[in-house]
Formats: sequence, C-alpha cells, structure tokens
Amino acid sequence: MPMTTSVTNPSAETSVKATCPDCGDVELTLADLLLRVCMDDGSGAYSFTCPGCGLRVSKTAEPVVVEVLLASDVTFEAWCLPAEMNERPGGPRITHDDVLEFHLQLQDAEWFARLAATVNL
Ligand SMILES: [Zn+2]
Repeated sequence: MPMTTSVTNPSAETSVKATCPDCGDVELTLADLLLRVCMDDGSGAYSFTCPGCGLRVSKTAEPVVVEVLLASDVTFEAWCLPAEMNERPGGPRITHDDVLEFHLQLQDAEWFARLAATVNL
C-alpha cells in the first residue's frame, strides 16, 4: 500500500496530507489522527475523520510512518490480538456432514435450548 501521509515536522499543529477514498487528498493536523499499533505483530494503522465528507477513514501505516507518528503528539492506542488466536482447538475436524447436521438442527425452534442443555456453565 502506498504511503499516503507525509509528516515533516511532528507536532500537534503539523499539517498532514492524507487521502480519503471519496474526496482524495485532504489536509489534517496530527491532532486529527489516531494511531493504533498491534503490540503482537507491530502492525500499525491510522485513522481520521475526513473533513470533506465526515467519514471515518482508516489506513495501514507503514513502519516508517508509525515511527514518525510515535515521535509526535499523535493520539496513540496500543492493542493486542485476541488470546483465542493462540488457542488450538481439540477434537476431530468439523466435516461437511457435521455442518449439514447442524443446519438441520437449526430448523427446530428448540435448537438453542437443546444446545444450552449440553453446556455446563
Ligand atoms: Zn472524504
């Protein structure tokens, strides 16, 4: 993805050029940006509300953009991947027959009650 933000003198008042998919290039300040960085894989993204159309725009931030933005006054959020991504499911693989059986079970209005009865909470 091409870098669509350029920052030369990072401070909250610094003018930033970004691209809205509908409006094209728009002028922002660093204070208008929200930078989010994943603490697990280091990937980054920034978002802003387009001053032209009001839509929230989110873009992938290349590592060099993340580095520059982190050195500025930009609002920053760190996030982590869900812990479930590291869980390995046990038991046999789900087959097409299992999916068909599940579909048939869903035809009965009592399907959820039957399912809930099989779970210990
Ligand atoms: Zn726009």
